[in-house]
Amino acid sequence: MSSTQTFFFAAVGDVHGHMHRMVSHLTAWEERNRKPLDFVLQVGDFEPHRDDADLTTMAAPMKYRHLGDFAAYHQRRRRFPWPLYFIGGNHEPYGHLDLHPEGASLAPHCHYLGRTGVVELNDLRVAGLSGIHREATFTKPRPPLASMGDVSNKDFTFFNEQDVERVLALGHADVLLLHDWPAGIIPPEEAANFEGLRRSANPELVGNEYARLLVDALQPQLVLCGHLHRRYASTVQHPNGQQSRVRCLASLDQGADAFAVFRVHGTTLQEVSEQA
Ligand SMILES: [Zn+2]
Repeated sequence: MSSTQTFFFAAVGDVHGHMHRMVSHLTAWEERNRKPLDFVLQVGDFEPHRDDADLTTMAAPMKYRHLGDFAAYHQRRRRFPWPLYFIGGNHEPYGHLDLHPEGASLAPHCHYLGRTGVVELNDLRVAGLSGIHREATFTKPRPPLASMGDVSNKDFTFFNEQDVERVLALGHADVLLLHDWPAGIIPPEEAANFEGLRRSANPELVGNEYARLLVDALQPQLVLCGHLHRRYASTVQHPNGQQSRVRCLASLDQGADAFAVFRVHGTTLQEVSEQA
């Protein structure tokens, strides 16, 4: 980051197809605060289903399979008011997203960052890693897209070693988008509050070690994540004195806890706490 301009951007937790609700919440924020958002970052489980065929490629129990709002944006009946960038979570139509492992624009103002990706937004370098961690297949390639339907949809929801190496190769990022939380951000005394939310391979851990590795290596000013449907804030202190702020966001049906707005001025990035 180098410029001295001031701008605002928003971060959004798991959307699960509720794009209309996301747009109305953020549009209301802009109106109340009389500030435009320059862009929106989203941390996965966006669920951009174009149609029922996309929906069948998502890993989720039947009761969670809903088409959601995305088709309206894809068919240009609605439009996102600002450019939106998202990574993939563990509930996504990977039959569609994996046609674009390097990322793609899926609708006007709607960009998938890819299995791994990076984008420069107003001099802010934003990197992302799609998917969640599974130790058993971490060193293996994902199944080819052609096997979709023959293997479990779940097999497409994981990042692997190659993805992590690609993000490491980016060297530095100002903002890092992850779906699951980095490990080691919960102090031991708070661990009991996360009972039942531990989805890591290591039952002692919330989050995963590879997400943490990326935070330690890229030392972003800001890490954004979702997945656990819980709002949480933490800081990772790096040995060189740098700090990474970690902002975990709730899911959209939990209301305001799914959102955060940040103000960037020059090289300073601050979370905006809204006045009542
Ligand atoms: Zn979710």
